[in-house]
Amino acid sequence: MVGLGPVGITLCNLLASQGIRVEGVDAASEIYSLPRAIGMDHEVMRIFQSIGATDALAGAIGDYRPSEYRSEQGILLRRFESPPEPYPLTWPPYLTFLQPELERVLRQNATKFPTLTLRPGLELIELKNPDEPILTLRDKATGEITTRAPSFVVGCDGGNSFVRRSLDISFEDLDFHEPWLVVDMIVEDEHTPLPQTNIQFCSPARPHTYVIGPGRLRRWEFMILPGENADEVNRETRIWELLSPWLRPDRARLWRSATYTFHALVAEKWRTGRVFLAGDACHMMPPFLAQGMVQGVKDTANLSWKLAHALRGGSERLLDTYEAERRPLLREIIEITKRLGRVICELDPEKARARDAELIAAMEAGQGVQIRQNLFPPIRHGLIGRGVNGSLSPGAGEPSPQPWVAGPGGRTRLDDMLPRGFVLLFAGDIDVPPALLGQARELGVAVHRIARSPSERAPLTEEDGLLANWLSAKGACAVLVRPDHMVFGTAGDMRDAEGLLRELRSGLAA
Ligand SMILES: Cc1cc2nc3c(=O)[nH]c(=O)nc-3n(C[C@H](O)[C@H](O)[C@H](O)COP(=O)(O)OP(=O)(O)OC[C@H]3O[C@@H](n4cnc5c(N)ncnc54)[C@H](O)[C@@H]3O)c2cc1C
Repeated sequence: MVGLGPVGITLCNLLASQGIRVEGVDAASEIYSLPRAIGMDHEVMRIFQSIGATDALAGAIGDYRPSEYRSEQGILLRRFESPPEPYPLTWPPYLTFLQPELERVLRQNATKFPTLTLRPGLELIELKNPDEPILTLRDKATGEITTRAPSFVVGCDGGNSFVRRSLDISFEDLDFHEPWLVVDMIVEDEHTPLPQTNIQFCSPARPHTYVIGPGRLRRWEFMILPGENADEVNRETRIWELLSPWLRPDRARLWRSATYTFHALVAEKWRTGRVFLAGDACHMMPPFLAQGMVQGVKDTANLSWKLAHALRGGSERLLDTYEAERRPLLREIIEITKRLGRVICELDPEKARARDAELIAAMEAGQGVQIRQNLFPPIRHGLIGRGVNGSLSPGAGEPSPQPWVAGPGGRTRLDDMLPRGFVLLFAGDIDVPPALLGQARELGVAVHRIARSPSERAPLTEEDGLLANWLSAKGACAVLVRPDHMVFGTAGDMRDAEGLLRELRSGLAA
């Protein structure tokens, strides 16, 4: 693994937790400490759950408040909220955290796995022959040069990726480049009078953002206007001027600040031979929907089980589905983020007035309050169920629901009660025919029944009917879930379930 930012360290943990031997190197000897990611979603928490890191993370995360867009005059233009409980994956749909803290927890978590070695301070300086990769590494402290010939390489080495450049892969430029100042403040106490929601101030005089972080952290992000100099804007006196509508120096401490240019970019290719790209190395987007790291971590969940499959002798062709599934999805997500970014970053007062009028009309028509997760499409390509007529199986490519279940040891999250790998889940007290069980066993697919109430016979009983309701909304009695917890497909009856298993068999063998 090249790069131990949040994406590289998650992939190291995921692979090592499956018993795979992994070495992770990073050119830097310390974790990057300037302000970056502050929001993540429940799918990412579920990935951290699968590597056993969520208890250690508990102290570093907090509730994510609703986000509002406000006009220059303070009028509400749009609002993003979380869905109500029961949460579809048991975790709150959005959470706040501090990126360096998260990375520290994930590096600590990595020490649990005997097959994983982390080497901070080791820089990749040459990558040759991607079909059978040879890496040259330099120890930053001693200057010692060593080489490696691993089975696979994943470049998680950030936006300026050396791995991507070595493979001569360029970024497709999706045309968004905006410089911003990011300021993290520690407020005196949690009662400092400040807004109680996150806010995008869509002011054409200077678009800016306010985010409530964990504990006493409050973040402001200010657009750097045409003609301004980033270093000048990032001086302490200037920062206090920008903050003066909210804070005086006796009410808060300036913790850290940085300037960035936000881009919208996606790599043309995500794989060459046995070398892959993940995270910022293959996609970058402005942070207006807090998706950069989130999507990078989702890359790792997608890639890790496919690498494990190949390393255990499975077809390497499955690895092509990584780019086939993730690249088009990322392109769409970047376009959505960019569209919202354009709304926020409007500097022309006339266009801003027209935008405000349009958004206020949408609010009045009841269309202005949205659930953030509903903005994002499912996986539509790659290894997902299509059924006989070729259209996507209902629910395919979405995260599978994770209900709370009552098990022998008390209340538990469903994933923690299931084996790793493919799982075929039936809701309720249903007889699964022996032929179907045999077909699943041959493919290594575990079959489980989840009761909707204690009166039904099944080893596990779900709370709240989350899975049963999700299945019935899809017109299904069963769901085939992939090792990354994404839905392969749903089945309306036993024949459909057999069809799904047949489809999976041919997909894995292809
Ligand atoms: C202001 C701001 C706010 C953000 N907010 C959010 C948010 O709320 N939510 C969200 O999901 N995302 C957010 N992001 C995006 C998020 O920070 C990035 O997407 C994330 O850090 C990418 O992680 P990564 O591991 O891919 O890359 P990085 O974190 O950049 O890590 C790359 C690593 O590779 C190492 N490396 C580089 N070259 C080499 C080499 N040659 N050899 C060895 N190692 C090398 C580097 O030292 C580094 O440690 C934000 C970004 C910014 C700037």
